[in-house]
Amino acid sequence: MLPVLVVHGGAGHIPKERAELSCAGVRAATRGGYAVLQGGGSAMDAVVKAVSLLEDNPAYNAGRGSVLNAKGEVEMDAIVMDGKTLASGAVSAVRRVANPVQLARLVMEKTSHLCLTAEGASQFARSMGVPEVPEESLITDYARMRWKKNLAPEANPVECQMGKMGTVGAVAVDAEGNVACATSTGGMLNKMEGRVGDTACIGCGGYADNNIGAVSPTGHGEAIMKVTLARLILFHMERGLSVEAASDEALAFMRARVEGLGGVVVVNPRGCWAARFSSLQMAWAAAQGDALHYGLYVDEHFTQSIDDLL
Ligand code: ASP
Repeated sequence: MLPVLVVHGGAGHIPKERAELSCAGVRAATRGGYAVLQGGGSAMDAVVKAVSLLEDNPAYNAGRGSVLNAKGEVEMDAIVMDGKTLASGAVSAVRRVANPVQLARLVMEKTSHLCLTAEGASQFARSMGVPEVPEESLITDYARMRWKKNLAPEANPVECQMGKMGTVGAVAVDAEGNVACATSTGGMLNKMEGRVGDTACIGCGGYADNNIGAVSPTGHGEAIMKVTLARLILFHMERGLSVEAASDEALAFMRARVEGLGGVVVVNPRGCWAARFSSLQMAWAAAQGDALHYGLYVDEHFTQSIDDLL
């Protein structure tokens, strides 16, 4: 069984001028997370590393670069799940932390709860010594421009977001066959204050079970929640479908049933992996053995050596 890490940078339609940035970021995060696996680290360590790198990268809708809510503020959701024990941790509508995915991991490891929200999540962050960062440090000019544009009464923030910004996520299998997932997002553009999206909800924005596999989705959160996308894919894998077929089946269902577009990265404990999406694009990358795989459009699949920095 070869350890594997698969990363996504959000489903949608990425403007040309941002596509290269988005692809380069997922490749770099995949290399960073995969180095953890190569060093003997766990699947959980690897997914948290990859997602933290993407949260630090202002090209994505997570951590720095998050979209703004209707009031022009940053509220973020994140989740992690460990397939060995089914332990999970999440935060929703959390403010002023640089790496919500690391806070989600602390919720998993240091509390008896699965999800902390809003001010309670911030209080927990303070009690754990997680530094509070100024809100301004999380806001990019691009996010502010998109927020302003979508204040107009005729604006369609869901349509606008599907692609212009990217939620981030990762799934991995380590040398011991343990699987894990992590997802992090600023949520939907111009969302209501206090909105909780799929990302913070177990079974929707992520799920991991060593008996089946691990999934990290992206897309319109309300649609993902209606079909519990992560768990739906694992359900199809449980009844014998491959990682690709299970992903395609669930994404097609979400499209047909609730008109939702999205994308997923998926692994099973044997090291099979997939990056599938119903949106026009999704920046993704995967590392296994000495190969780095990546793509942006449907059916696009490039491969290079993991050591090749180009
Ligand atoms: N699923 C995220 C949310 O609704 C957004 C995205 O994946 O782009 O919060």
